[in-house]
Amino acid sequence: MSTFQSQLSTTKIPVQKLTSNLFNDIEVDVLRVDTLHNIVSGNKWFKLKYYIEDCLQKQQNTLATYGGAFSNHIVATAFACKKMGLKSIGIIRGEATKFLSHTLQEASNYGMELHFVNRTLFKEKASIKQRFDNNIYWVHDGGYGTKGMQGAADMLQLLNAEKYTHIMAACGTGTMLAGLVSAGKPHQKVIGISVFKNNNSLDNDINKLLHSINCTKQFTVLHNYHFGGYAKHPQNLITWMNELYRKEKLPSDIVYTSKLFYAVKDLCSSNYFKVDDKVLIIHSGGLQGNLSLPQHTLCF
Ligand SMILES: *Cc1c(COP(=O)(O)O)cnc(C)c1O
Repeated sequence: MSTFQSQLSTTKIPVQKLTSNLFNDIEVDVLRVDTLHNIVSGNKWFKLKYYIEDCLQKQQNTLATYGGAFSNHIVATAFACKKMGLKSIGIIRGEATKFLSHTLQEASNYGMELHFVNRTLFKEKASIKQRFDNNIYWVHDGGYGTKGMQGAADMLQLLNAEKYTHIMAACGTGTMLAGLVSAGKPHQKVIGISVFKNNNSLDNDINKLLHSINCTKQFTVLHNYHFGGYAKHPQNLITWMNELYRKEKLPSDIVYTSKLFYAVKDLCSSNYFKVDDKVLIIHSGGLQGNLSLPQHTLCF
């Protein structure tokens, strides 16, 4: 059987240098993990890798996971399972609606079986699992867990990352950031931009993952770039996304990477970095999420 790794080529992921005046002459490069695939772009593929391998190795033929109606993790799981000949189940937070979101439609096209669970029940993972066959392989929301972290860590093998002084990424569950922290070198600062408002448990969630592999490295999470909260996209964010695209030819998504790029720009203009610093930004993907916007909102 073909391996999970061979399903999408990770050898051609480009590094884009940002050259406009937006970043105050600080050297900023972007690892374009978003170019991996137009639907399953970015970090989700990496985070799923070791779960899928584990599931196959345990000879379980169905993988189940959880997410919201716009979850990149849900589509990526559906796609990865289809590729690997696994059945997939998505436990979706909220009531079923008459029309599926783009994300869920896509997941369903990849053969995922969708189950809608209201917000209260959604939190009770044990009782959800009880309703299903006990030979199913379960993956946490957003791929949170040690294997997710280890998969994300592999992203730093896509380039020569040693020269960078700072590595920056968007955080949802913090799984990707934990991976970057674990793979980073001692001279590198890893900084996460939380896309949730007041996610007070995030630092602790990241530390838990790091402790599971006995990693005691430090990291920083900035909590003031959420633009109002998860998936909120006020007009000033949209304006920023269009400006970034016009000046750098860099597409971003409304949930994660637009807020990350904005944070980097803001830090550059407030002299957070020194002149010799070299910043690597992880473009973790998520562009399919922009499909939920009215047409022509974005110039790309
Ligand atoms: C899910 C996602 C993230 C956040 O990853 P976590 O590991 O949950 O922190 C960041 N960027 C994009 C594009 C994502 O889809």
